[in-house]
Amino acid sequence: MKKYLLSSFEEGPTKLFVGGLHGKEGLYTAPILVRLAKEELYSGEAIIVPSIVEDSKYIDILSEEYYRSKEGIDLIRLIEKYKPSFYFELHAYGKQSYSRLTDPEREKRIGVPPFVDLGEGILIGSIAPILRSEFSENDFCMTIEVPNWKSDKVREEILQILRLALSKEKREDVMSELRMRYPTQIKKAEELFRQYYRNRLKPF
Ligand SMILES: [Zn+2]
Repeated sequence: MKKYLLSSFEEGPTKLFVGGLHGKEGLYTAPILVRLAKEELYSGEAIIVPSIVEDSKYIDILSEEYYRSKEGIDLIRLIEKYKPSFYFELHAYGKQSYSRLTDPEREKRIGVPPFVDLGEGILIGSIAPILRSEFSENDFCMTIEVPNWKSDKVREEILQILRLALSKEKREDVMSELRMRYPTQIKKAEELFRQYYRNRLKPF
């Protein structure tokens, strides 16, 4: 597992960016996160793991089984070691999974809210509830799903979002910038988050 550590002189939050959590999605997340690791503008400390696993059996991260697999254990260890207050998880999906991931009935079906499309198939949402319990209330945790059939332009847009998270010191600054760029989509994503966590947590 390749890991990049970025550390600025100024104090700031610890941020963990991970990709490639299962299956072969690392093929799509790693190039984006490797580019993020080359960024020079950041605050605090960042740990960037382009791909937790290169090629593994696909185990759903919503399942408990995942956290017993090698990749799941590696992920938990990273979180325990660095105790990040910003946590960004990058996945990749194929065209055929779009309707399943964005299904308005997803919560009824599998117990978690649907992802919201920022446009161009870039999906955002909360992280797996099992994993969210590893973090504290004030931590900032988000999942981004990369559409694996899209062009470089879309990957560039995802990189822009990650750069925002890397450079800002406060979660509220990241969120307000995202609200400006994607007003209706972020409103929807925040609404879904609040409904799901019944206002016990602040999105995200
Ligand atoms: Zn995934």
